[in-house]
Amino acid sequence: KWVSKFENKIADFTGAKYAIAVSNGTVALRLALHLIGVRAGDEVIMPPLTFVATANSVAHLGGSPHFVDIESDSLGLCPIALENRLNEVAIKKEGKIINRFSGKKISAVVPVHVFGMPANIEEIKKVCLRWNLPLIEDAAEALGSKVRISNKLIHCGCFGDIGTLSFNGNKIITTGGGGALLTDDDDLAKLAKHLSTTAKVNHPWDLFHDQIGWNDRLPNINAAIGCSQMEELNSKLKSKRLLHSKFKQYFKDIAGAEIISEPNNCESNYWLITLRLNGDEVEELREKIILKAHESKIFLRPSWTLLNQLPMYKNASSGNLKQAENQSKRLINLPSSPQLMKNL
Ligand SMILES: *Cc1c(COP(=O)(O)O)cnc(C)c1O
Repeated sequence: KWVSKFENKIADFTGAKYAIAVSNGTVALRLALHLIGVRAGDEVIMPPLTFVATANSVAHLGGSPHFVDIESDSLGLCPIALENRLNEVAIKKEGKIINRFSGKKISAVVPVHVFGMPANIEEIKKVCLRWNLPLIEDAAEALGSKVRISNKLIHCGCFGDIGTLSFNGNKIITTGGGGALLTDDDDLAKLAKHLSTTAKVNHPWDLFHDQIGWNDRLPNINAAIGCSQMEELNSKLKSKRLLHSKFKQYFKDIAGAEIISEPNNCESNYWLITLRLNGDEVEELREKIILKAHESKIFLRPSWTLLNQLPMYKNASSGNLKQAENQSKRLINLPSSPQLMKNL
């Protein structure tokens, strides 16, 4: 019963019609991609500045990532770069979108709400609708992040056909390990539940499975932890906002660096508060800052290595990634635990 309770709490909090709890965020993405039709050999468009799981979930289905550049303010997928890239490589053929260079079907777009900051999701959605491409939002880091649409706050993960969350130990709330799919679509929700429970057909005693499913469901014990964690979510969000404003204040007079803030009309959960170094030669400086901090036991981190630079994805299809390359070398993730507020 804890699984349904937890799902209801997530649906209530996000405003999604359905939440389907699964064993982790990577599985949530893989299941979402499968549900909207990603199959072996397909390409899925995503930004290169994200956690490796975004690309892995596509690879687990036999597909490959197709990297498109980011924008500097949200650090998420750039809608203009997306439109330009599609105009450059994509052709419509028998109702499908084909990359005319690789010959592969482009079957979905996966923007990521990086560090909890909402991507420019309304504009991205418009491009997806123009091209008739399914939209899956990787909202793994964005529980509590919202976008204001005509005076209403819409939760990240509720713009696409499906949104996905993670409740891994490092996320804003945790179930030990866990994830969820968010959707308003009755059929997708039903199929998500079916395929995540070994595709067993409901019957009091017959054991009959009508397709190849997965054992993806979130265990009951983890869901119970999730229910208790949900009680702390609002206070964690409040602490994170306060911590962000403190950092912002500390850095306001430092010319060479800025604390990144939520874009206009957005509310970030500030899952990972991020410092951006300005100027041209920042790589060495960043190395020095991180090293110095580690000597004082302050565990700063550079942002992820861009996925197109990892050995398994270096040959994947890719547009011009100038902004991703420019941004990723100047970002430092700061200690962002809400518990830090207790010491300030
Ligand atoms: C954490 C994370 C995931 C994967 O979630 P897990 O629960 O760790 O599998 C996917 N995408 C992003 C952007 C993440 O930060």
